[in-house]
Amino acid sequence: MKSFKTFFLVPALAFAMLATLTFSSCSNATQDISPPVNVADEGTASVYTPGNDGSISLRTDCNGDEIHWHYEGPEGPDHWAELCPEWSCGGVAQSPVNIVPPPARKKSKSLYFYWENSETHIVNNGHTIQFNYDQPGDLATNHNQGSYITLNGQKYHLLQFHLHAASEHTVNGEHFPAEIHFVHKNLSTGKLAVIGVFIEEGAENPFFADFLEHFPHSEGDYESADSYNANELMPQNYNHWLKQHFWWYEGSLTTPPCSEIVSWMVWSSTIHASHEQLVELEEILHENYRPVEPLNSRLVRAQ
Ligand SMILES: [Zn+2]
Repeated sequence: MKSFKTFFLVPALAFAMLATLTFSSCSNATQDISPPVNVADEGTASVYTPGNDGSISLRTDCNGDEIHWHYEGPEGPDHWAELCPEWSCGGVAQSPVNIVPPPARKKSKSLYFYWENSETHIVNNGHTIQFNYDQPGDLATNHNQGSYITLNGQKYHLLQFHLHAASEHTVNGEHFPAEIHFVHKNLSTGKLAVIGVFIEEGAENPFFADFLEHFPHSEGDYESADSYNANELMPQNYNHWLKQHFWWYEGSLTTPPCSEIVSWMVWSSTIHASHEQLVELEEILHENYRPVEPLNSRLVRAQ
């Protein structure tokens, strides 16, 4: 896997040329289905708040009060919109959605990965298991630029990735056993770019073989100087730019406050984990998925 990173970081000149060629032709395609975003109203700058230790906490307060929400019962997804009028959970551009695979069109998103190795910061925040990343603002003593992607020429920093079981997005109405969300943020606009990867049952997953035993089973965290690269959780061909295939659409956070600020890219290739690993994941995550939301006027596109 590490060879992919090298393969991808080295040809900076090629990247610059390609970005010039692709950026001008794809910005319109992105804008014409984007929901209007008012950064100030959404409070997007404070949706994710870097902690002093570099961790990212997801704020779900409402007028300064912390609001409890869950995946079932009176504080479940059907009631999220009622829990706080400031949240966007009743909006028309919500996530996740059911994906009916459209025919692939010519490449309209230019996407490049610059994921670096990271030390291990695992948090069980009561809703999911999350791997947090150090952020540029917290790296004054470190030469690391952090991990990021560029999407249509704009830089989005990798804040964290986390897990859902079962999957949140569905394909032709079917859930996968689990889904990973890699959450990136554009520090200029506050908008997010989230990459979704489905986990299917199959061979044992080496990443989970290393880390599953450290997942906190209740709220808490696990810190280690052991490093890994998120590449290890992507389908094997993901960063060859000729081969990557994903579905994309404009949507929202799938948890309160459900802000409609997310460019979603869901990979059509899956990764695998063993039956035993998936059972353990499900036991820890307790069906932490939001049911699919209507597409309304949006389109899911493929490339
Ligand atoms: Zn998620």
